[in-house]
Amino acid sequence: MSQSDASSENLNVLTSTQAVIREAVTKLGYGPDMYELLKEPIRVLTVRIPVRMDDGNVRVFTGYRAQHNDAIGPTKGGIRFHPEVTEDEVKALSIWMSVKCGIANLPYGGGKGGVICDPREMSFREQERLARGYVRAISQIVGPSKDIPAPDVMTNSQVMAWMMDEYSRIREFDSPNFITGKPIALGGSLGRDTSTARGVAICIREAAKVKGITLEGSRVVVQGFGNAGSYLAKFMHDAGARVIAISDAYGALHDEQGLDIESLLERRDSFGTVTKLFKNTISNKELLELDCDILVPAAIENQITLANASEIKAKIVVEAANGPTTMDATRVLTERDVLLVPDVLGNSGGVIVSYFEWVQNNQGYYWTETEVATRLEDLMVRSFETVYKTAQARKIDMRLAAYMVGVRRMAEAVELRGWV
Ligand code: NAD
Repeated sequence: MSQSDASSENLNVLTSTQAVIREAVTKLGYGPDMYELLKEPIRVLTVRIPVRMDDGNVRVFTGYRAQHNDAIGPTKGGIRFHPEVTEDEVKALSIWMSVKCGIANLPYGGGKGGVICDPREMSFREQERLARGYVRAISQIVGPSKDIPAPDVMTNSQVMAWMMDEYSRIREFDSPNFITGKPIALGGSLGRDTSTARGVAICIREAAKVKGITLEGSRVVVQGFGNAGSYLAKFMHDAGARVIAISDAYGALHDEQGLDIESLLERRDSFGTVTKLFKNTISNKELLELDCDILVPAAIENQITLANASEIKAKIVVEAANGPTTMDATRVLTERDVLLVPDVLGNSGGVIVSYFEWVQNNQGYYWTETEVATRLEDLMVRSFETVYKTAQARKIDMRLAAYMVGVRRMAEAVELRGWV
């Protein structure tokens, strides 16, 4: 790879996603009109949210809510609080949610929200005022049968609780089914907090089977130690694997003998930060290129690119994060016979259990943790099998196969409604 190849790589998550959607739509035999509809969200709202800060000044934050496609049912997807949120990113994330829901056969289209802010620099009460302000700003287009939000990067069950409370006050009736990822006491589902990681762990197990790798004793590297990454590291440790490295936004910890995951879990903060407590850290770049069997990017976008794809030593890469590998890097990894399980399959455990939470809220009847885990296992294994078989049969990579599976159902619903 030349330097110019890497520098001309498309790192725009929206346009690169559109390229895969186009390929999937074409391979499924649909015409350009279907692509025209599916390449962008049907609705994107930009909002400006005034928030009274603790010092008495007002700061105005910008937020977005994108709804990709509601042919199958209401849209669904998380809300991200992050300084680097962009409209294109939120749009791409909403498309990925549609594909995810399609693969898992959930009765939803995709949605996503984001607010440009850094909650690490905000007090608890400032975060509350921002969460409530965001809900007031988007309340017209969301709701239990319109668009159902959930947590994402730097939002958690407490933020969901404030948002649910604000929505219930606006509507003047209790609306637990407006949002998922809530605390258990407010109608959350048992097993939701660990569901993304559990789904990733199931994909790792299935991928290891097809690659002939024994999980016990295998070497695992996890980038990101937040909700997705930290629980995943724990599940891998519990399965007998050696987690030799983890990271956060500030650096990475590496120990060939295996890290003490339990102790790191206890010491991380609510934003998934732990490496600041240690001296001998390595960089995130070094972490990604470590010699290992399984690599799990569980942080942010565009981490595996043309610049480092040929340096990745892992035999299996399972994407817990959304969009961590570029399309060009996907091609390089596939050519090098690395099995890449894409985000739309790898991290779908989160939306699957969010769906279970919404079903329980609608029924007013709550399941045991075992029931949740059994149903998640069933859906994840079926999703993995369908995508893997499609990839094998069509001789394509798992990402394109996943898009074909996910887009197929959405396109069918679009046609049945007579939209295209
Ligand atoms: P989180 O905020 O709980 O944790 C994010 C982690 O990534 C933290 O450890 C943070 O320090 C680290 N990080 C941030 N910027 C980084 C950088 N530049 N380099 C390295 N590390 C960095 O977020 P999360 O909920 O665990 O989400 C992580 C990823 O998983 C995101 O892409 C998210 O969209 C995806 N995801 C999460 C869920 C979920 O249920 N939480 C579901 C599906 C997908």
